[in-house]
Amino acid sequence: MTDQDHLLDLFSADYATARARWLALAGARGLAVESHLHPLRGPAGELLAVDVVRDGPADAPNVLLTTSGVHGVEGHVGCGIQAGLLRMGPRELGDEATALVHVHAVNPYGFAWTRRVTQENVDLNRNFIDFGQPLPDHPDYAALHPLLLPERWPPTAGNETALAAALDAMGPRRAQIAITKGQHSHRDGLYYSGVEPTWSHRVFREVLRRHAGSCQRLAWIDLHSGLGPFGVGERIFACDDGVHALQRARRWWGERVTSVHTGTSTSIPMTGPIQHAVYGECPQAEYTGICLEFGTIALPQMLFAQRAEHWLAEHPEADPGLARSIKRALRDAFYPDDEAWKRAVWSQGLEATRQALAGLRQSP
Ligand SMILES: [Zn+2]
Repeated sequence: MTDQDHLLDLFSADYATARARWLALAGARGLAVESHLHPLRGPAGELLAVDVVRDGPADAPNVLLTTSGVHGVEGHVGCGIQAGLLRMGPRELGDEATALVHVHAVNPYGFAWTRRVTQENVDLNRNFIDFGQPLPDHPDYAALHPLLLPERWPPTAGNETALAAALDAMGPRRAQIAITKGQHSHRDGLYYSGVEPTWSHRVFREVLRRHAGSCQRLAWIDLHSGLGPFGVGERIFACDDGVHALQRARRWWGERVTSVHTGTSTSIPMTGPIQHAVYGECPQAEYTGICLEFGTIALPQMLFAQRAEHWLAEHPEADPGLARSIKRALRDAFYPDDEAWKRAVWSQGLEATRQALAGLRQSP
């Protein structure tokens, strides 16, 4: 088998293939898979699960966590990278003391059904908030909602003109925040944060407690796609505590680690990112994490693909041909069927992993 075959082998066209590959790879390595079965099934009736593999010592003081499919459909890229890492294993990665904990398809429902969100229509990376507190208003989103999700699809020219005018009036950054920050008011809307912890949220906390609840140092690479230049992996700082963790992240992953708080990232500050769970479940650990975000298509096309798919979720009566083309476009938006892209994604995922392992080893 050539290197090229090996590489293309990592990535899967659908969730069921990715899961079968994952279970087979773990089996080949003799590793146990801890499967958290989802209450629903996939489109072909297949089982859905969050499948955790711990690759390394049970009592390791250092843990490197990888996560895929927090945004379901982005599991194509994340699970591909995890497959490569699991195939290599600690010896080939040059570190047998650290435990790699791979959480495969954190939002398996979204991956299987080609949705970015969970079965609750929730953006899982906006769902880690304190639901005991009053939920904030987000009037900018509320103003855009009817324009983002019109009654009919494709949208009319009048709809698109009105939306473009509203976004122009806000300016690009405020408009991006308006749409993607996370909102609680529209259950059927885009970037919905939810009003309670989702199924994936609860499972993920349990996994964190079990696998990182007593380690000393925790590194985390959360794998995403859809923002930024084609094939470029942006390393977005993903810790809540500012200065020290950011310095550490830049020592490990380079000065190009960006931050949503300083405007150096293509992403924006959001409500309830998943990293919040670390502070609740692993307070003992020194935590350093990034979101590794691989660029695909331009933001306006990305927004259009997401609007269409949300519209479709609310319109099950839609023409089957239209439904298929909307789903296909969403998958292509997050997972380009392009060999150079996959090659670039894998090499950057591997590099970031090696850097995290080296960083953990060097920490005092
Ligand atoms: Zn994402």
